[in-house]
Amino acid sequence: MAPIRKKRPARPQVEPDFLGSEPPPQTGTTFNIWYNKWAGGDHEAYQQTKAKGRCNIARDSGYTKADGVSGSHFCLFFARGLCPRGADCTYLHRLPRPDTIVSPNVDCFGRDKFSGYRDDMGGVGSFLRQNRTVYIGRIHVTDDIEEIVARHFAEWGKIERIRVLNSRGVAFVTYVNEANAEFAKEAMAHQSLDHDEVLNVRWATEDPNPMARAREARRIEEQAAEAIRRALPAEFIAEIEGKDPEARKRRKVQSSYGLEGYEAPDEIYFAQGPNAINPAGRQGYEVDHQEQAMIEDGTAGESEVPAAQEQQQSLPQSAGVFSSSTLAALSKAKIAVSSKPATPASTGPLVAYDSDDDE
Ligand SMILES: [Zn+2]
Repeated sequence: MAPIRKKRPARPQVEPDFLGSEPPPQTGTTFNIWYNKWAGGDHEAYQQTKAKGRCNIARDSGYTKADGVSGSHFCLFFARGLCPRGADCTYLHRLPRPDTIVSPNVDCFGRDKFSGYRDDMGGVGSFLRQNRTVYIGRIHVTDDIEEIVARHFAEWGKIERIRVLNSRGVAFVTYVNEANAEFAKEAMAHQSLDHDEVLNVRWATEDPNPMARAREARRIEEQAAEAIRRALPAEFIAEIEGKDPEARKRRKVQSSYGLEGYEAPDEIYFAQGPNAINPAGRQGYEVDHQEQAMIEDGTAGESEVPAAQEQQQSLPQSAGVFSSSTLAALSKAKIAVSSKPATPASTGPLVAYDSDDDE
């Protein structure tokens, strides 16, 4: 049951006869397999003419019949400032919130996504890629485009960043949440900013800025790391996070699995360890190098460590020739290591990144 935050009924944005007829159904766009294009639902014939309405969140939003119904979608006509139904509407008349969760197969308006984008990057978008960046073209060229764009687009949700190509009258607005990007794209289609332009609003193609691409890759990696963190036993995570810099070097060697230049990605490498499917992949994994030195040489001298490490690195190949006493010592050491309290876990992310020096 959704919390009721709006005591105010949604306000009809236009008179019932404003559109001449009932708005067409919000969902049900169809994919024309012969032309590889979408048809219906989202008419864009009026592309060059200014939008007929404009949503005003502060003035127009309020509760509708959709509030309190789980799985409700947002009203496309509300986003366009054209819904005559007000509180009687069966779609939500408000902005997506940070906790809004929409199935990846539909947009926040409940329209089906497809595997590809439309040729002109209009329409609903792709379910294969989370897209939070809206492209805005045909902006009247002035020196203060960024300020103008920020002012107009902040109305539709929290903005992560804005990039502007001043001389070309183009801007890219990235929202924190995909649902707000979807809302903004509909709300600002064919609108004007401070001048009498008619905006061309589309999905951005992949951001050509390498910094932005690296940032997005990092974000996805962090999401993956978080998923792994939730899936693995807590003590195993603590061990990974508490590891010293040597762990990175060891990992580089161990996770190559004998393939030169290959380093297993986190999800594969971290899937090793106590629960590894492949025993060779976890050989010596839980044993830190000092203990390894003791086992191999019967000494724990500091000077022995480098040689022992070298030996350790060749373990996958030589694992078959271990004496039974070495194996017994190894398994004892494993028990000793895994039962000792984990090194204080760093508060940093699971995956160690190089310093973030962009921006
Ligand atoms: Zn509505």
